[in-house]
Amino acid sequence: MLSRETCAVLLKELEKLLDGRPMRFMEVCGTHTVSLFQSGLKALLPSSITHLSGPGCPVCVTHDSEIAAFLRLAEEKDVCIATFGDLLRVPGPNGMSLKHAKAKGADIAIVYSPLDALALAQKNPHKTVCFLGIGFETTAPTVAATILCAQERKISNFCVYALHKCVPPVLRALLADPNTHIDAFLLPGHVSTILGLKPYAFVAEEFGIPGVVGGFAPEEMLLALCMMAKAFVEKKPCIRNAYTKAVRPEGNPHARQCMEQVFEPANALWRGLGEIAESGLRIREPYALFDATKRFAMQTDYVPAPTGCRCGEILKGVLQPKECPLFGKRCTPANPVGPCMVSTEGSCAAWFKYGV
Ligand code: SF4
Repeated sequence: MLSRETCAVLLKELEKLLDGRPMRFMEVCGTHTVSLFQSGLKALLPSSITHLSGPGCPVCVTHDSEIAAFLRLAEEKDVCIATFGDLLRVPGPNGMSLKHAKAKGADIAIVYSPLDALALAQKNPHKTVCFLGIGFETTAPTVAATILCAQERKISNFCVYALHKCVPPVLRALLADPNTHIDAFLLPGHVSTILGLKPYAFVAEEFGIPGVVGGFAPEEMLLALCMMAKAFVEKKPCIRNAYTKAVRPEGNPHARQCMEQVFEPANALWRGLGEIAESGLRIREPYALFDATKRFAMQTDYVPAPTGCRCGEILKGVLQPKECPLFGKRCTPANPVGPCMVSTEGSCAAWFKYGV
């Protein structure tokens, strides 16, 4: 662990590098969102820095249409939905959420890993346990491994509604959007342990934007910010790794191989960004038995965002949470209108909690 003094030195270095030049950086990891606030670092950053929270919180990017599909799934007979807790509170059509469905009698269990869902299936052979697979490249390999495990153990009452999303395609979509203004990316630490650095190369090569993979302690984020600021100021865009204790340049080939064995790229719906080509993962044909979309002939009909909610613009870095007219009024963590106020890693929830 580095010292408080190191943070002070890095902060000074950051100020010196920028020398008053404005820099808008976006983090694309919910854990970075929270760490920046929780550590107090956000308040200490040079005033010329604008921090944007991007689409890095799995719950926040889950589209209303997908929430509506979960609610339909909850109505299926003899189905138990297994999900991470945050998803329970995300409002879908007419403010309905899985929490409401559970209160009405739907069988919904909170689990902490896909393997917990598989264990639930083994314990309840008369039910079909359907795991709601959300998240990025960090969680997709464990879900893939669970499907392989289910196949090996011949557990046929288990399936996954796979709605995983991939980070590099959404970065491309953000950079191609004329409404966004991003000078640099603080790249996600967790996702990069799987992907390594190569999948981000286009950010620097095609868009001329630097990106640095950062850890989550204040000094790790500051180091990443210094590297980012240097590349930005010197106009030498590159992809760098400031989280070498966890991220290898090649990532985790074994986890990627597992993920690629079970999933194939597919178009995906992102809140605020719409459909992005090949930005999602669907279960490959040899594992169709474990694919909830096939088992329940599921469709995702388009559902618009809740009236007045600006999550889409917030996830693109076009607006800051406090610029949403509902922030802290009609929308609070106790009564969230949109998903960015639900998840602890959501930017609206972080702004609300830490009172910026
Ligand atoms: Fe949506 Fe609430 Fe955030 Fe506004 S404050 S963007 S309504 S989650």
